[in-house]
Amino acid sequence: MAKYKLEYLWLDGYTPVPNLRSKTLVKEFANFPALDALPQWGFDGSSTQQAEGRSSDCMLKPVAVFPDSTRRNGAIVMCEVMMPDGTTPHPSNTRSTILDDPGAWFGFEQEYFLYQDGRPLGFPTVGFPAPQGPYYCGVGFKAVGDLARKIVEEHLDLCLDADINHEGINAEVAKGQWEFQIFGRGSKRAADEVWVARYILNRLCESYGIDVEYHCKPIRGDWNGSGMHANFSTHYMREKGGKTYFEALMAAFAENVEEHIAVYGPDNHLRLTGLHETQSIDKFTYGLADRGSSVRIPHSFMNNGYMGYLEDRRPNSQGDPYQIASRILKTISSVPTP
Ligand code: ADP
Ligand code: MN
Ligand code: MN
Ligand code: MN
Repeated sequence: MAKYKLEYLWLDGYTPVPNLRSKTLVKEFANFPALDALPQWGFDGSSTQQAEGRSSDCMLKPVAVFPDSTRRNGAIVMCEVMMPDGTTPHPSNTRSTILDDPGAWFGFEQEYFLYQDGRPLGFPTVGFPAPQGPYYCGVGFKAVGDLARKIVEEHLDLCLDADINHEGINAEVAKGQWEFQIFGRGSKRAADEVWVARYILNRLCESYGIDVEYHCKPIRGDWNGSGMHANFSTHYMREKGGKTYFEALMAAFAENVEEHIAVYGPDNHLRLTGLHETQSIDKFTYGLADRGSSVRIPHSFMNNGYMGYLEDRRPNSQGDPYQIASRILKTISSVPTP
């Protein structure tokens, strides 16, 4: 038997975007615990905007478990917040609103800035660095500095150790801006892993005195904002698809622009301007390989006769991937499959 350190992770009740919260449960197991061996656990919801002080208990229901290589016998336990009965989802529990669909696949591209002393890592104390151009996938101290790559590499290793399905990382268009991509099969998997990857990044950066800035437009002017493109496909899109279905799907997206934007992250009007590889927030367009459209159709989709995945470019870096996945599947499910 060994004492395991189980880091129970959940989303608090702050709006429009929840914060990550976590606390450690120490419990003895013979081996690394499986999900169904992990108990529900309570917390004080009055400190997280999830309950009144007089009746403050909320419950944490484990929904996914990941190894944590930074701690001896460590595990990260992603949880849903439940009412005191342990079975009713708390109103803040956005994960519970996602349709269960093992055939739904998501790939999220999380962009973010590393910040030091209130400005992007690598920005001079006064003024701005050289204009955008050399930073995207840049190499060398001038392009990406030294500390940033060290953090980004460490983050990747920690995530891979945790069995998070990273597909890649890259330096982004603005100085101090980075991206990681996570792909998951099943309607909730990629969203779970994005939240855990965010947790690991935030925690790693504590030790460097660095903040992670998830806001979608932290620097005004001619600097790219941060998105979280949501690539999605269903079993039907991958196996049947076709032009008629595709056009019906896009019509449903066009009819629900406001509903989608409402959960695609705060302040998105600052980012979705029609500039910097975005479409305006009030327009809905789609186009082949078009990074200025709301939904980009990959070449592979066209080459396969309207079959495969699509990229919704509107979700932003601060969005809750649970709400994003939930909304996309809701719109898809409103379109009948012939
Ligand atoms: P880009 O920056 O050109 O938009 P990326 O390589 O950063 O492209 O991201 C593409 C994303 O598409 C990846 O996250 C990948 O996992 C995802 N993806 C690929 N195939 C599928 C699929 N069938 N269903 C859902 N997502 C997919
Ligand atoms: Mn990308
Ligand atoms: Mn990108
Ligand atoms: Mn993209």
